Amino acid sequence: MRRARPDFGQTARARLRELIQATAPVHPDTELALCARWAELPDRARTSAQLLGRRTCGCEGTHGVFPRCDLACTPCYHVREANLVQVDGDHTRQEVDRQMAHLRAVRGTGQHAQLIGGEVTLLGPDAHAAALDAMLRHGRKPMSMTHGDFDYDYLRRLAIGPDGRPRFALLRFAGHFDSLMLGRRGIERPRREADLHQHRRRFVEQFERLEREHGVPFDLAHNMTVTPRNLGQVGEVVRACLGMRFGMMSFQPAAYVGNPRRWREEFDEVTIDRVWTEIERAVGTQLPWRHLQMGDERCNRSAYGILAGGRWFPVLDDTDPRDLRVRDAFLDRVGGMDLERQRWALAIAVARLLARNPRLAPLAAGWAARLVSRIGVRRVLRGRPRSLTFVVHAFMDASVVRPAWEALERGETAGDPAVRAAQERLSTCSYAMAHPDDGRLVPACVQHSVLDPQENRRLRELLPLGER
Ligand code: SF4
Repeated sequence: MRRARPDFGQTARARLRELIQATAPVHPDTELALCARWAELPDRARTSAQLLGRRTCGCEGTHGVFPRCDLACTPCYHVREANLVQVDGDHTRQEVDRQMAHLRAVRGTGQHAQLIGGEVTLLGPDAHAAALDAMLRHGRKPMSMTHGDFDYDYLRRLAIGPDGRPRFALLRFAGHFDSLMLGRRGIERPRREADLHQHRRRFVEQFERLEREHGVPFDLAHNMTVTPRNLGQVGEVVRACLGMRFGMMSFQPAAYVGNPRRWREEFDEVTIDRVWTEIERAVGTQLPWRHLQMGDERCNRSAYGILAGGRWFPVLDDTDPRDLRVRDAFLDRVGGMDLERQRWALAIAVARLLARNPRLAPLAAGWAARLVSRIGVRRVLRGRPRSLTFVVHAFMDASVVRPAWEALERGETAGDPAVRAAQERLSTCSYAMAHPDDGRLVPACVQHSVLDPQENRRLRELLPLGER
């Protein structure tokens, strides 16, 4: 009997295909997904500033994978039943895998995805690592969302495998710290935001220690819910966090979503504008945002910049037409290119990009020279420059999301202006969650306002507390 010989021609062709894909400026699946996202955006959202459908398909998040949390926030976006569901590592891994596979199929690769639900560190370190691993396998850039109340030993066991080697090339975490959270160890009932600074610092220091001792780099975000009670302390938090190694500071004005028993204040008094003004006051400069928009400006506002020598500088000067031309060229030509890949692959991808678009090189050089001159050579060399993004993301109240979603499902435009505005925002949503069973992606607002109650009732039957 003749033994089957490997077909070297086929293997070589497959390897070549892989190499071409790994060094393509934009993965073909991502390119298709971006085109589809752009095509489904409403006309009013297709502006020269729009990032959706050009740079990214939007952020992604998990749901129903570990609903439980051990802190009590006022407000809390989770339904009451969430805390009656057992945390189960196998369930988390399987469900994360399914949701991420669906996102990979419809959105391509290289998209940012949040490992989110209840409190992620209630998962054991191995189960947490398995969930991150599943996300990476499906081409996501995972970020673990936590209240930050965990010890260094947990972080080390998550980051370092049983063989003593790092499991991940980079760890992304978002720590949520604000004085509306009750039950944190060492400070059960904070009275002011300043009471939490030592906990914010401790959170960052644990990652710095991990980097020092095991060489695991990190990327951290700081999240804070804002209500009338702590609005006046936003500036205090920003000033304190400027000295910590957060790459992003994100603020969420509270909305009436989730558990009504945790609604204590008049949340409507806090608007995106008011939060933004507080941040600008603390940073000591205007934070330009209109020239780079993720989705709808009623949902999101972001300012991308560099912190150097204690001062913040925007990466693009929105008043300089040359910088706006750079933005246009970047979004048109570089588009969804993933800059996070192995160095050799990135070098070839950049070379392929420049071969197709030779005008990009002088444009980029001019932009870099202007940025350095704005920051100042001295600060660039001595001021430890690092990127720092400010974000405000305003969720919507459940009372408008439900009718807006139902009208969208029926293909109708709502008559009520508030519901119609919610419909517009949902159709330009930049934060989606996957439902592989019916092949859909839904906005996070819809997940929390409409789908969470039923989903958690189901999970409560599947994973009742105290039985596994
Ligand atoms: S989740 Fe809601 S608030 Fe956030 S981008 Fe989507 S529609 Fe807007």
